[in-house]
Formats: sequence, C-alpha cells, structure tokens
Amino acid sequence: MKIEKVLGYDVVASDKEAFLHQLLEDLRAGDQKTVFAINPEKIVTAEENLLVKEMLHEADYLIPDGNGIVYASKKLGGGIRQTITGVDLAQDLCRLAGENHYSVFLYGAKEEVVKGAEEKLKEKYGPVIAGRMNGYEKDDEKIIQAINQSGAQILLVALGSPKQEVWMSRYRGRLEGVKILQGVGGSFDVFAGAVARAPKIFRKLRLEWLYRMIRQPSRIKRNVKLLDFMAMVRQAARKNKKA
Ligand code: UDP
Repeated sequence: MKIEKVLGYDVVASDKEAFLHQLLEDLRAGDQKTVFAINPEKIVTAEENLLVKEMLHEADYLIPDGNGIVYASKKLGGGIRQTITGVDLAQDLCRLAGENHYSVFLYGAKEEVVKGAEEKLKEKYGPVIAGRMNGYEKDDEKIIQAINQSGAQILLVALGSPKQEVWMSRYRGRLEGVKILQGVGGSFDVFAGAVARAPKIFRKLRLEWLYRMIRQPSRIKRNVKLLDFMAMVRQAARKNKKA
C-alpha cells in the first residue's frame, strides 16, 4: 500500500482495490484503523483550525477524496492520479463485509435518511447492517452502547466535517469491537436517494462539484476555499523547485 505526502499530509496513493485489500488485512489482523477523507476544503480549514489539522494527522488513513488532491499531487511531482471518494469506499466496505462475514453500523444523518440508507444497502449487499443511529441523538453513551452491542466491525459515521472526525477521534477507544471507522459526510443522503449524485456526464468531466454548487448555492463558500488551496499548492511547488 502506497502512501504519499501531499502538503504535509500522508495520503493513500494506491488505487481503491489495493486500499480495500489493506483494509481487509487490517480487519483480519484485528487492528483498529480510522479512515478520513481529505480534500482541498479540509486542508484550507486546517490552516485556520488547529484542531482539524491535528485530527487529519491523527487519522490512520487519509483518502484522496476530490480532484484537488490529484491536482496537488501532480503539481508537486507525486503519483496520485485517482480519487477514492468516501461514498464509493463506504459502499465497497459494505460489499466487503458481505463477502467476508463482517457487519456494518451506520451512525449519522436524519432518522429517515439513515433508515433509507440501511434499506438500500441491505438490498444491494445483503444483511450486512448490524444497526443504525441517527446523527441527532445527543447521548453519546447511548450511541456507544448501541454500536458495541451491535457487534459491528465496521462503523460509518455521517455527521459532516469536522464533527464526525472529532467524534471518531474521541470515542474510538471505547469501541473495541470496531476495527474500521470511516467518516462518510453526506453519503447516507446519497444512499437513501435524498441527494442525487451528479449525472454521469458531470462525473466524467470531473465537474461533480459544479453540479452540487448549482443545486446547493450555499456550497459557493466551500469553493472559494478551492482558490486558497490552489495558492497553497503553487507556493509549495515553488518551494519544491528551489530545494
Ligand atoms: N448531520 C448529522 N448530525 C449533525 C449535523 C449533520 O447527522 O449534527 C448529518 C447531516 O444530516 C448530513 C451529514 O451529516 O447527512 C452532512 O453532510 P454534508 O454533505 O454536509 O457533509 P460533508 O461531507 O460535506 O462534510
């Protein structure tokens, strides 16, 4: 499994299949691992928020979730050419669970959304979902208990960022049976069909962000961060050249 430094972060540089293979090995070995997604928005946020920065560095695996990371890798002489999106990886983990007799707990999103996601995932991958909890439950003890009692080895957390990363970093030690914790953002909304993925043509042209921005103009602020990110990459590239 290849790891590459991008702007100071250790990012998974293998393709998704190789990474899944690694996760299956981790499951078998019984090691607990966290998988956080990294993208331009989070890297820029981390510059302003030390807590976010620390959390990104604490993750066991950072997946390149967004073409901005591919762009940075190219500019900085790295080899990452493909993204691994949180949505795709989460589905693959459910498939992997089905094939290898593991089970998955879904934590996050609104009750009807997480319920819808559970139904859709069960339709696709069989009885792999061991339990679920919506993301608006205030009692963390209750959540931890539900996860532990479910016996799930894989936990998908959909609270948005950085809330989900904070939650996982804080409580991973209390979830002994859980071996893989993945932060999945708005993925349950996608699984449940509450938010449609961009049409194929947008995905093919790598313009999924543009589609989402048109549908949800409040995302414009996030895309402003993309400009800051490009400036960071250019600066790092200049430094590289001098060195
Ligand atoms: N959410 C939640 N609890 C909260 C805040 C948010 O469960 O206290 C859920 C929200 O319902 C949505 C997801 O977290 O399903 C956030 O999705 P978003 O697309 O904003 O996440 P991103 O990946 O962009 O951070």
